[in-house]
Amino acid sequence: MNKIINNKPDLLIVGSGPVGCVIAERAANIKKWNVLIVEKRNHIAGNCYDEKNNSGVLIHKYGPHYMRFKKKKIFNYVSKFTKWINGNYIVKSNIKGKLYPIPINLTTLEKFFNKRFKNKREAKKFIDSKKVRIKKIKNSEDFILSKLGKEIYDNFYKNYTIKQWGIHPKNLDKSIVGRLPIRFNRDPFYVNQKLKVMPKNGYTSLFKNMIDNKKIKICLNTSYEDIKELIKPKIATIYTGPPDIFFKHKYGKLKWRSLEFKFKTKKKDKIQECVQINFPNHKKYTRRVEIKHVTKQKSKYSTLSYEFPNSKGDPYYPINDKRNINIFKKYEKLIKKLEKKHIYFEGRLAKYMYLNMDEVIERALNLFNKLKKKYN
Ligand code: FAD
Ligand code: UDP
Repeated sequence: MNKIINNKPDLLIVGSGPVGCVIAERAANIKKWNVLIVEKRNHIAGNCYDEKNNSGVLIHKYGPHYMRFKKKKIFNYVSKFTKWINGNYIVKSNIKGKLYPIPINLTTLEKFFNKRFKNKREAKKFIDSKKVRIKKIKNSEDFILSKLGKEIYDNFYKNYTIKQWGIHPKNLDKSIVGRLPIRFNRDPFYVNQKLKVMPKNGYTSLFKNMIDNKKIKICLNTSYEDIKELIKPKIATIYTGPPDIFFKHKYGKLKWRSLEFKFKTKKKDKIQECVQINFPNHKKYTRRVEIKHVTKQKSKYSTLSYEFPNSKGDPYYPINDKRNINIFKKYEKLIKKLEKKHIYFEGRLAKYMYLNMDEVIERALNLFNKLKKKYN
């Protein structure tokens, strides 16, 4: 610790998730800045962290991470630090003991309504007869009722959403359920992006490669709050943690949805038929994940992870209701002012936004470009 404190970095980065690692990498390689990352956990890679468990199975400690890229440019950047394998993520939903493809597609509709559709048009016409006519779509419930009707809403979305968020879909923005595509073809994959890939040796290895530079020092098990008075960077601070903690809850606490993960390992090559099975209407957990389907690891063992939503615990999902949006807006004003003091906020926690990995990586690259111009 003392060694770290004596070392006066150009850049201080709080958090070693994707945002912290990308900015550290760019700053060290492009600008030759000395970077110090402080990370309160005992490992790098933020919520993307993966590790081998006692049976040697590579697990995603903080929930399954399915990498997909909207932009080739971002994919090209991350490709410098890893080789890839295909990311053919398949998810099914367990409704009364039967498995249906998720996102909803033609096969789901046929199986659920016990019908055969000759083509997309026929399926769309059938669903038109099920849709609830709603003039102004105000929330997640309206969104699904107006696109797929009551039976699909009740069976696939309503209770999953209540379990996941502890909030009724009536009180959630439509963008939450809108994350899932709705399809009238037979595309079985979880995400629409063509560029869906998994890092061949895992995420921790990817981010380790990214920050493998003598100019980057990392101090694990260290909170910003413990060192902020001791370390004054020469150029700037990048903060990727929750804003309310930074400002000592001046405007109140921001709410987050958290998860508890329970892992079970079996001596079996595979335990379930696809990487993720959702349980909207029964069980206390929302989904059961067997990550080996997508890591493609060779092992005699496999591990299931059960996700139990929780309002306490690590911050995972920002809750975008009116109360929290208003609190965040107040913090945002303070955040803007801090830029004059060379402190910048970025990432899923710091921006209180439901962002995917490719999105935070793009935002981190943009922030670096801004810093590069400003601090020549
Ligand atoms: P984080 O990864 O959260 O990293 C922030 C780091 O900062 C953490 O390590 C934290 O310990 C540290 N930190 C915070 N405060 C302090 C402090 N005061 N002092 C020191 N250190 C601090 N994205 C996808 O693209 N595909 C997916 O399938 C996917 N699945 C997900 C599943 C779950 C359950 C969750 C929670 C997220 C998922 N994501 C997924 C999103 C992905 O995890 C995030 O986009 C990404 O991790 C955000 O990176 P970040 O650097 O902003 O934050
Ligand atoms: N969702 C649902 N049923 C499902 C899957 C998802 O109702 O079988 C809803 C739920 O509200 C969830 C949202 O869609 O929070 C987004 O799902 P996604 O799988 O993208 O969530 P994440 O992987 O980020 O947890």
